[in-house]
Amino acid sequence: MRTDASSILVFDTTLRDGEQAPGFSLDVPAKLALARALDALGVDVIEAGFPIASSADGEAVRQIARGVRRPIIAALARCRREDIEAAAQALAPAGRPRLHVFLATSDLHLAQKLRITREQCLDAAVSGVRLARRFTDDVEFSAEDATRSDVDFLCRVVEAVIAAGCRTVNLPDTVGFATPDETRAFFADLRARVTGADRVVWSTHCHDDLGLATANSLAAIEGGARQVECTINGIGERAGNAALEEIVMTLRVRHARLPWRTAIHAEQLYAASQLLSQLTTEPVQANKAIVGRNAFAHEAGIHQDGVLKDARTYEIMRPEDVGQPAARLVLGRHSGRHAVQRRCEALGLSVRGAELDAVYRAVIDLGARRKAVTDADLRRIADAAHADGGPGEEARHGETLGYGHGV
Ligand code: MN
Repeated sequence: MRTDASSILVFDTTLRDGEQAPGFSLDVPAKLALARALDALGVDVIEAGFPIASSADGEAVRQIARGVRRPIIAALARCRREDIEAAAQALAPAGRPRLHVFLATSDLHLAQKLRITREQCLDAAVSGVRLARRFTDDVEFSAEDATRSDVDFLCRVVEAVIAAGCRTVNLPDTVGFATPDETRAFFADLRARVTGADRVVWSTHCHDDLGLATANSLAAIEGGARQVECTINGIGERAGNAALEEIVMTLRVRHARLPWRTAIHAEQLYAASQLLSQLTTEPVQANKAIVGRNAFAHEAGIHQDGVLKDARTYEIMRPEDVGQPAARLVLGRHSGRHAVQRRCEALGLSVRGAELDAVYRAVIDLGARRKAVTDADLRRIADAAHADGGPGEEARHGETLGYGHGV
């Protein structure tokens, strides 16, 4: 395990929390394929499943533990004997197994969901960690709904599980309720108050119910968290978990402001995102930060002109930094003459002077009727302009239909 103070451990839970999302279920071979991609991406920990939940979950954890050797492989368990034994069995082939036990600590969860007292919660957490320690030294404890728990009680629980031998303390914002300033203060406060705080790695696990998962994860790091739990494409329960690619790239792009780093090979982010999308048959939102198909696309003429002169005018990172295909100047009705000319040149089409004017007008017309003007469209338009020195067939058709038609 890297112990450098500026290093952030990336704990990927795409295969556990991510896979719990409706429509995102994966079979065992798909999970194994994704685990290999996460290994290539450089994640420190792969949470491979929740073995007591189903035999398929147990089998996925077993196969990943056997086949993916570099990262730590974690399995989830409630603080119950049967859960912990099932997780330990599934992890048996792992070179670096981690048992991840969890128990809610908020009064709401204790009273309404678990129907136990605070004292019973404290006892169960300690016995869960002790039992897990019989199978592995690497035990993580998560205080579910930590951000809505009474802080004094949470401190008692955390102190007790550290004394019982857990190495990682995770404080999840299970329902995506916290704000960034609150999260920063929460981690700093817990670390200052809990005896044994410096013996464990503090971990954050944020959900995106208010769209704050990435901001909260970064705030937790500022507050002292050194492990971040996240998923590819931000998939997960409800609105999802914190997106791995967003946290990783914020730490890169804004390194001067946020001086921490991860071991992620960022140029593989796009491939991992695409693989997940293919395996789940769920498309990635077009405007998704970092990995969406529009994340590096420019259509407006002013933006296209700027990007052609110097990409830094409208791009804070390069598409190749995250493995995206080259930045795309999407030709459409907002495009500029400069971008049309540049795309013609890239396609080896020679258009000059009046021809360029004709091609440009035809692109704008066609763009008004279609989502985008493709390279094939552009070839046809340029060939027509070349042949008769005026607007091509598509453009004349466009003029006939007018701007109000089509998409
Ligand atoms: Mn979660």
